[in-house]
Amino acid sequence: MAGRFDNLIAGRWAAGEGEIENRSPSDQTDLIGLYAQAGLDQLNETLDAAVAAQRRWAMSGLEKRQAVLDAIGRELMDRSKELGRLLSREEGKPLAEGVGEVYRAGQFFAYYAAEVLRQIGENADSVRPGVEVEVRREPVGVVAVVSPWNFPTATASWKIAPALAFGNAVVWKPANLTPASAHALAEIIARQDIPEGLFSLVMGSGATVGQALIESPKIQAVSFTGSVEVGRGVARSAAPNFTKLQLEMGSKNALAVMDDADLDLAVAAALNGAFGGTGQKCTASSRLVVHERVHDAFVDALVAAMRGLKVDHALEEGTQMGPVVSEGQLRGNLRYVGLAGEAGAELAFGGGRADVGHDGFYMQPTLFTGTRNDMAVNREEMFAPIACVIKVGGYEEALAVVNDTEFGLTSGIVTKSLARAGHFRRHARTGCVMVNLPTAGTDYHVPFGGRGRSSYGPREQGRWAVEFYTTAKTAYVKAGEPEA
Ligand code: NDP
Repeated sequence: MAGRFDNLIAGRWAAGEGEIENRSPSDQTDLIGLYAQAGLDQLNETLDAAVAAQRRWAMSGLEKRQAVLDAIGRELMDRSKELGRLLSREEGKPLAEGVGEVYRAGQFFAYYAAEVLRQIGENADSVRPGVEVEVRREPVGVVAVVSPWNFPTATASWKIAPALAFGNAVVWKPANLTPASAHALAEIIARQDIPEGLFSLVMGSGATVGQALIESPKIQAVSFTGSVEVGRGVARSAAPNFTKLQLEMGSKNALAVMDDADLDLAVAAALNGAFGGTGQKCTASSRLVVHERVHDAFVDALVAAMRGLKVDHALEEGTQMGPVVSEGQLRGNLRYVGLAGEAGAELAFGGGRADVGHDGFYMQPTLFTGTRNDMAVNREEMFAPIACVIKVGGYEEALAVVNDTEFGLTSGIVTKSLARAGHFRRHARTGCVMVNLPTAGTDYHVPFGGRGRSSYGPREQGRWAVEFYTTAKTAYVKAGEPEA
């Protein structure tokens, strides 16, 4: 019998006003559990508790905070096999990717545990003689974390860890498609020695619980990762309260393959970037901008590699690409296949559902050639295992195509030329640039974020996170002359 999983409301586990079934996208007969859906009264109760708990946490002392974050990080890393399996089961990414994600989530907590002890302010002399200035960072207060399903543990962790490290309370609304990973992480955090209500889990629908959370005047900041459309709504809803915002949204990343590229490397980068995580990554390489001199050889080699990709159940040994996350997502992907065909693109591989013998949402890895950058498949984020090749005549044209997008999260170039690589690093209009690497795959100790419609607000990750999760206080002190 499937278990029932509660929300964490004001420090206590509580059933909701309803519950949802969580079924595996690899096999719809696999019921993972029933997950509570928070009511609006519960949300209010937990927000009140968060306000009070945050004040206590901010005064709790650095070693206390460091120890809590370190313990969460260590447990995530120690249990990465078990929790990674759960993640893969509910999200659909292959087991190795699920385990890797949970381990990485642990590394975020370990990193920010260390950052707790590196909070050092600045001092200056005032322009007024006899006055000294101290600049210190203070927590922003209660932070709403709204996270997506595609990296259910890692994305939430790179928000929750710095929020707690810098002395804030967190109310977390995870994606409703991946509540099991959310519940597992919340269960670890709830067991720590933290003030009651400092951290809450409010599973529920985005339209109700999510919306009420971001509209609340009791929160001081929202860190959101998800689609552009929902992100725009979050910005609109947060504006009346002037709530601090950090939005990480979609993208349309391009990998440029030059005529001097190591083709094996280019194919490996394209395969990883386009089809890793079933293409459901904000850093996915959905546009492949290929020099005409190597176009045919690159496409032939990529198609051969795609033919060898094992599409199967996420937990099956040897699976390289799991199912897409839901029936709705799969239907959306197939709509894009139709749109590409109607626009005149040529289908080089895939294009349909994949039958692997399970009741899941499987799609073939798909490649289109003969595409133009103005086609819908090259303008809109598909979040699908679909890549489109755009043929170009040279480096300058490649760079122009890479930059011709409303988004700007990552971009990449495969080239042996130091001059081209250097020029690309400086002129690609994206937050992250990759040279001879897939567009996906980033570290945790350096900033992550994009330009254009991909991101809004201060960068996430590394020590750059301090900008969003703290607010600066400037103190002016006139000590006067000591008494004799
Ligand atoms: P959505 O934008 O649909 O949802 C993101 C989160 O917002 C979910 O938790 C969702 O809840 C919640 N939400 C939905 N409506 C509201 C609302 N009105 N108010 C508050 N919260 C709301 O994205 P998906 O979860 O479908 O994730 C896929 C998208 O995320 C892709 O488009 C991708 O580009 C983007 N993404 C971007 C990343 C980046 O770093 N740039 C990383 C990962 C994903 P619910 O699940 O209940 O709908």
